[in-house]
Amino acid sequence: MEKHKESMMMSLGYNPEWSEGSIKPPIFQTSTFGFKTAEEGKRFFEIAYGKSQLEPNEQMGLIYSRLNNPNMQILEERLAVLEGSEDAAAFESGMSAISTALLAYLKPNDVLLITDQVYGGTHHFVHHFLKDIGVEAYVLSAVDSVADIMGELTAKNLTHRVRMIYTETPANPTGKLIDLSILEGVKNELNKQNELPVISAVDNTYLGPIWQNPIEIGTDLVCYSATKFLNGHSDVIAGAVMGSKEHIGPVKGLRTFLGGMIAPYTAWLLTRSLETLHVRMDYQTKNASQIAAYLEQHEKVTRVYFPGLASMGARQNAIYANQCKAPGAMISFVVQGEEAGAFRFLNNLKLIKLAVSLGSNESLAQHPFSMTHANVPDEEKISTGVALGLVRLSVGIEHAEDLIADLAQALEKV
Ligand SMILES: *Cc1c(COP(=O)(O)O)cnc(C)c1O
Repeated sequence: MEKHKESMMMSLGYNPEWSEGSIKPPIFQTSTFGFKTAEEGKRFFEIAYGKSQLEPNEQMGLIYSRLNNPNMQILEERLAVLEGSEDAAAFESGMSAISTALLAYLKPNDVLLITDQVYGGTHHFVHHFLKDIGVEAYVLSAVDSVADIMGELTAKNLTHRVRMIYTETPANPTGKLIDLSILEGVKNELNKQNELPVISAVDNTYLGPIWQNPIEIGTDLVCYSATKFLNGHSDVIAGAVMGSKEHIGPVKGLRTFLGGMIAPYTAWLLTRSLETLHVRMDYQTKNASQIAAYLEQHEKVTRVYFPGLASMGARQNAIYANQCKAPGAMISFVVQGEEAGAFRFLNNLKLIKLAVSLGSNESLAQHPFSMTHANVPDEEKISTGVALGLVRLSVGIEHAEDLIADLAQALEKV
């Protein structure tokens, strides 16, 4: 029987015999690796640059830490297991992972289909940098039917230019879910007519890899800010992209030249974090469910956004039932009294820290309107539910009673 993913996080890809019996992999803090012979060095380069393929029993060797490093390779093997993908590419930040994945496939004059609520850094990269190099981003305002989207693209004469579809679900900060099966349907329709295959990509930072598995739905590339749940200790910036060998190949190829690969120490810390990923995420979602229930009945809270709650609506909950295994640990809620109410609440928190970022083992709260979403036009914020009184809470692994007590005393001051 193949072992469970949790069990494989302790040792996969590493043999203590390689390093004096050291149970944990050491940090291979080196830029370069010695070749046994010149012939061996020549062979490794042939394979690294795709001039030749590995023979069935041949092992690729270590060359130089921008191309490969044991810490990066151990991490990538484990990330692929967690995602249920063939391959993974690790990066020094989530933005490096996302921008490299997009650049690996998009060329001037290509069209990128993208949903409206994506991470601020991604939004900027797509709508400014990619736009400036001639990649057209077409924003899908609704993802409700394959036929509607195809009709829209046909009417605008865009179908033959679409090269990539990119989304983020749940969308930050209101947890709006995007139906990935509809985007896959659009991809399949486009692939019947287009010359180059359309590549689908999802930012799975909020729920993956434990609570949502886009690979099962057919998504080609799954992107992460590994800074968040994957690392979970607010002490690392890192990123990853998972997918088939065929789809990850161009991403790793471009990474070699843009140079955003994960550093040995970052990879080592992240590998350590993956050992506790299941335990952390399981506990965090349990805490978050209790907190969401508490906030829903609080008189000073006018709205709670959390996947699966009846107030999210029937369509959202149908997507949730289809696509997600748990609601996750991100809650957004509207506090009475607009910005002043939200600020009073945030300023009075004691256990929960006032900071952006998310997915860590300590709970963090922030004000999306003036902080993470400061750059989004006000009308757009209001129309997507980013109200002045909205607070975003990332729930950690403190005791739920202490978290609720902290929320209660801060809400009392509102
Ligand atoms: C934080 C975040 C990113 C960016 O990742 P970095 O690690 O900060 O570069 C991208 N997408 C989502 C959903 C995020 O939360």
